[in-house]
Amino acid sequence: MIDFSGTLLQWSKLHGRTGLPWQNQKDPYKVWLSEIMLQQTQVATVKERYIEFIQVFPTVRDLARASQDQVMALWAGLGYYTRARNLHACAKMLEEQFDGQFPESAASLVSLPGIGMSTAAAIASFCFGERISILDANVKRLLARFLGVEEDVKKALVHHELWQKAQTLVPRKKEDMPAYTQALMDFGATVCTPKSPKCSNCVFQTSCTAFAQSKVSMIPLQVKKVKNKIVQSEMLFILANQQVLFELRPAKGIWGGLWSLPESSWVEAIEAPSKPLQLSIRDFQGLPVDLLELSYKNAKLLAPRRHVFTHRTLYFQIRIVKLSEKFDLNTNHYQWVNISECEHLGLPTPIRQWVNDYLLS
Ligand code: SF4
Repeated sequence: MIDFSGTLLQWSKLHGRTGLPWQNQKDPYKVWLSEIMLQQTQVATVKERYIEFIQVFPTVRDLARASQDQVMALWAGLGYYTRARNLHACAKMLEEQFDGQFPESAASLVSLPGIGMSTAAAIASFCFGERISILDANVKRLLARFLGVEEDVKKALVHHELWQKAQTLVPRKKEDMPAYTQALMDFGATVCTPKSPKCSNCVFQTSCTAFAQSKVSMIPLQVKKVKNKIVQSEMLFILANQQVLFELRPAKGIWGGLWSLPESSWVEAIEAPSKPLQLSIRDFQGLPVDLLELSYKNAKLLAPRRHVFTHRTLYFQIRIVKLSEKFDLNTNHYQWVNISECEHLGLPTPIRQWVNDYLLS
């Protein structure tokens, strides 16, 4: 059996990635932040946003003391907003219950909000030298191929077994754990890639089960993707005395916890819509029907815009409702924001783009 960790460590000295701002970090806050950002976002995007985030919130205490709106605004555009809410909740818990310090073992770290086992293992191995393997998507792919695991690695039992096997491959010395963890990440991202892995130059070629059995393209098993749904909605840009009405989205679901324009329910469509939705002000729950009915009918309806999510494509039409004066809703679910201040709100990317375009028009 090949010395897996020794071979990987040797490879990383010559070919590991360099120049990533979160590399060679011992500060658990910075490792944690990079791990969370990298979960669903490309390295190139994270590089810039990570630096920006650290500048605004240099420590976990700074993050804990920020408001949720500040955090969401800084996260806007990165998507998967539950990550930002969990990040904030976790920082607060660390501040309140752990005196602003991260626990040092993966077993304790995993009890914190938004920290899964692989992230906990990354923090514990990078910062505290714990001998524990990460198992993110890149590492799962590498190990499934190397070990010849043909079942669906997303299944809980297969995942659990893969983790147990991963654990047998970690280096003996805890001092090697940070470099090993980084090497696993780098190898999965640059050599054993999802498409066209570089098997001909791979240091594991002679011991890789998938390569020996010509099954590299079949592992990990790809389960068919769900068909992308098409949905339609209408949003209201209600403008009064240079102020715009924004609505807080529910904490769970798409754009959860962000401010957005008041919106009708999403309606499913079979194909890209050729006509706008025909709605009335009654389709916007929570708004005063009597006050808005006439202005709504006379408002200008703009052509729909398209926004593509992972499993859905949204066509949203915006109606510009101009009022002579604001109305009061007596709830913190809505807020009027000066039009020049909109950029400071945590808005979903397509809404931010639309507002920017509107301000420039
Ligand atoms: S030989 Fe190919 S499939 Fe096997 S570990 Fe190397 S890159 Fe991955």
